[in-house]
Amino acid sequence: MTRLVIFTDLDGTLLDHYSYSAEPARQAWEAARAGGVPCIFNTSKTRAEVEQLQQKLGIDGPYIVENGASVWFPGDTDLPLPPDVQSAGDSYCKLLSVPRGEILDVLKPLRHEFSFRSLSDMSVAELMERTGLERQQAVLAANREFSEPLVWQDSEDALKECEKRLARHNLHLVRGGRFHHVIGACDKGQAMSWLLAVYQKAFGDAITSVALGDSDNDVDMLSAADIPVVVRSPAHAPPAIPNRPEVCITSSCGPEGWSEAVTSILVREGITAPQ
Ligand SMILES: [Mg+2]
Repeated sequence: MTRLVIFTDLDGTLLDHYSYSAEPARQAWEAARAGGVPCIFNTSKTRAEVEQLQQKLGIDGPYIVENGASVWFPGDTDLPLPPDVQSAGDSYCKLLSVPRGEILDVLKPLRHEFSFRSLSDMSVAELMERTGLERQQAVLAANREFSEPLVWQDSEDALKECEKRLARHNLHLVRGGRFHHVIGACDKGQAMSWLLAVYQKAFGDAITSVALGDSDNDVDMLSAADIPVVVRSPAHAPPAIPNRPEVCITSSCGPEGWSEAVTSILVREGITAPQ
């Protein structure tokens, strides 16, 4: 038997780009959960934001934060955790990146050569204005542990040069829906593959991975998935997925598109009956 595991981006994918609502996708994720299909958030958001969102949506289980920088498991997880997973408070964590402090140290001298604004320069009020988040949400979003979001204010050529400079320190620059993110040598695809191996061990069956995302920072995850789904964005063109000409692009945007894709995959895989 093949088991399905869903990995999903949040902003602009499960959550509406403007309102951050996931409600239009509720029926689809509840159908997935009822069918025993894990639904794993794989996001640029922080741990504090994801924990709150999981609670609000009634979704539990492991999740991936800050563009693949770390994988988190609840303390009562049934999954067989590999030996390199650390205990962290009442959770377990697999680190795939460096701490944010190291990233800020590398960015410091680059400020004299390139024009950008980083999260560490922004007040909560500025972050609220740039993201449309409420104050409490913006505070959680600012609580980053493994990455630094940037607003790029320089040319595309300068951006390429800055990427090269960061690469010398083994750091990457990825483009999200609103910000560029400086992260360690990790990405959403590597983190997904790492977590899939844990599920593989737990299930012992063949696993079919589904990944849903809307932006460039989802491309690694989408490329590595068995069933990649590009969720249409109201804010930018769908990213190209190299070597995946069959990739499905949803007709609707955000959570409506998520619902459309997941509903049809659950039916196709025999997990739910056709309506
Ligand atoms: Mg997104």
